[in-house]
Amino acid sequence: MARDYYDILGVDRNASQDEIKKAFRKKARQYHPDVNKDNPKEAEEKFKEANEAYEVLSDETKKAQYDQFGHDAFKQGGGAGAGGFQGGFGGFSGFGGGGFDNIFDMFFGGGASAQQGPQKGNDLREDIDISFEDAAFGKSMDIEIHRHEECDHCHGTGGEPGTKVDTCPNCNGSGQEAVIQNTPFGRMQSVRTCSRCHGSGKIIEKPCSKCRDTGEMLVKRKIAIKIPPGVDNGSRLRVANEGEPGILGGPKGDLYVYIYVRQHKEFERSGNDVVSRVNISFAQAALGATIQVNTLDGKVELKIPEGTQTGTTFRVKGKGIPYLRNPNQRGDQHIVATVQTPKKLTDTQRELLLRFASESDEDVNNLQVSKSLFEKIKDCLTR
Ligand SMILES: [Zn+2]
Ligand SMILES: [Zn+2]
Repeated sequence: MARDYYDILGVDRNASQDEIKKAFRKKARQYHPDVNKDNPKEAEEKFKEANEAYEVLSDETKKAQYDQFGHDAFKQGGGAGAGGFQGGFGGFSGFGGGGFDNIFDMFFGGGASAQQGPQKGNDLREDIDISFEDAAFGKSMDIEIHRHEECDHCHGTGGEPGTKVDTCPNCNGSGQEAVIQNTPFGRMQSVRTCSRCHGSGKIIEKPCSKCRDTGEMLVKRKIAIKIPPGVDNGSRLRVANEGEPGILGGPKGDLYVYIYVRQHKEFERSGNDVVSRVNISFAQAALGATIQVNTLDGKVELKIPEGTQTGTTFRVKGKGIPYLRNPNQRGDQHIVATVQTPKKLTDTQRELLLRFASESDEDVNNLQVSKSLFEKIKDCLTR
């Protein structure tokens, strides 16, 4: 059986998109034709293999299909994208080595230009879920994130402390070199990843024992965040400078916290208003009553007027959600009343309801009478 895409890139199944991208770049540099002059055919095969793996694993949809169907099934069926790409690659190889370089540069366009100067680090995303109350009133909390930071062993140089790390003499540390190529269209100059340092800009005598040669390590950090009152489901909080490290001394990326609000057992949100339901009895509805209802601020009294119908909505002003931009102002709470029909009646209640029905000239099942008759007969028999 062929090795699967995770093996090809040398990442495990839980690898993040960042790790997958890094692993692919590493493989691609490793199998660049310029560094594999002894065995270019094999290197090209390996590069294609890595590229195919990256094509699939870097696309969340394809990756999900791949994880679901497995390597062989995906390549036969769902992996049309990967198959299609291979076809495209075959077409290019007719160009010869030049064609291959062009493809390579195409893939490294982003990576290579990143070497040109300081760049802001990547942003990070973290999803959290909070309670309905915390969304309404806000909360200060710590969240845990994973991010790359400068390796504390080599301080970012990538070399073991005490050994030499030199600027690459081929590219002067830029990680790029210019090449002149003879193409069917004439001599063309293009810029590509430095063949000596493979883009790092450094020549490392002995790689760092902690981070190998990346100069970074993945660490777990606690970040204090402040959720403002009034956030809604899907709100996004930006925490500046808590993302991935910058490139060549650039600023750090930002952290984006996506907030999901858990459902409340009693309250629903509608804009800045809260909607809730309350059950009232038939007698309360008919005669009127003062009842206790729950709000975000605890219990309040609600006056039910005489003759309330089921579905009547009562408004309690100012008990809704604070406005994000003006937390002193709040929405209202709407309470929908449902009149409950009693399911069990005592004999007295039944008697009274029958009298009520006859008073209003209503037809009802007169069960009480038949029961009384039955009881009278029973009484006769047991006497
Ligand atoms: Zn290190
Ligand atoms: Zn170099």
